[in-house]
Amino acid sequence: MLVTFPHMGNAYIAMKSVLEDLGVEVLVPPPCTKRTLELGTKHAPELACLPLKLNIGNYIEALEMGAEVIVMAGGCGPCRFGYYAEVQREILQDLGCNFKMVVLERPQGNARDFVKKIAMITGGKNILQVLASIKRATRVAVLMDELESLCWQVRPREKREGTVSRLMREFHSQAVKTRGSGKLAILIGEYKNRISRVETEEKKEVLRIGIVGEIYTVIEPFVNVSIAEKLGDLGAEVDKSITVSYWVINHLIKEALHMHDKRELREASYPYLRSFVGGHGQESVANTVLYKRRGYDGVIHLLPFTCMPEIVARSVLPEVSHRYGIPVMTLVLDEMTGEAGYMTRLEAFVDLIRRKKEMKELYEERILSGD
Ligand code: SF4
Repeated sequence: MLVTFPHMGNAYIAMKSVLEDLGVEVLVPPPCTKRTLELGTKHAPELACLPLKLNIGNYIEALEMGAEVIVMAGGCGPCRFGYYAEVQREILQDLGCNFKMVVLERPQGNARDFVKKIAMITGGKNILQVLASIKRATRVAVLMDELESLCWQVRPREKREGTVSRLMREFHSQAVKTRGSGKLAILIGEYKNRISRVETEEKKEVLRIGIVGEIYTVIEPFVNVSIAEKLGDLGAEVDKSITVSYWVINHLIKEALHMHDKRELREASYPYLRSFVGGHGQESVANTVLYKRRGYDGVIHLLPFTCMPEIVARSVLPEVSHRYGIPVMTLVLDEMTGEAGYMTRLEAFVDLIRRKKEMKELYEERILSGD
């Protein structure tokens, strides 16, 4: 059985790791491209959110390459994610595709059900083997996020522009061919070493920008038009409030075990948004506040067109921005997003926060010198 799954940034590395460790044949869907989006847009309902369209494109491309089983995450809550898998299943069936779909729901107080579904994909591996491979894959996801975070720090300071991006392209072309958690961990370690040795201008002043928003748009570079890379090239160090390992550890594992401590997030969002609105809407508001407290210079809020939770977050973010004095820019992404206009907005935002920072420093200098 050749198993595939949706492409979402670096999540393929953890998915590959867990499945390959359990002896499953994996077909990593090709990275999202214009064709993936066109396929999804053609077959999905017009007002469906962008991630659903891209998932459809991923599946069609993977099925063309011989995939037989699709693994998809399920869920419930106030947004449309809860019926994503069913809609996708029906679209593919209407197209006459031959496949089996396994929907993995977050374990609601019962991890056994989740583990059983994985065992179904893996041809009856026992619970201990499944849990052990999930543990190793989580470790791989953490290492991968550490590597990404290192790139975000080094890129704006690199002496020769493009070095980090070139190394990461090389990394991904090798990661797709590398099998199993052990080898993937070694490969990630090797690239962490190489990126930490990239020549940098240590004293260079860089801006710090936090990225919040809907998980798919934050993580998938095709959708966010490689925002981390672009901001890095513009001299800004980024941080993403949501990463693959954060989602796996907090939303999948800790929530299943009722151990996800949300007190800090709830406290930060409380004056503006007091309840769960689905997806990561409440976290987008909370993390904007937390980025300000951590001294960030600005926040970029990403959401797909028609994303319900993030529309709610968007409506309160101007108030957060005003109250905390932190610039926030919202970028709505859909199939019509054009790179040139997007780049112009990023450049303008970076210019704005750079100017704001310079003015603040000048003002503080004057106060200190008594002018
Ligand atoms: S969070 Fe937004 S983009 Fe994701 S499924 Fe829900 S409505 Fe769609």
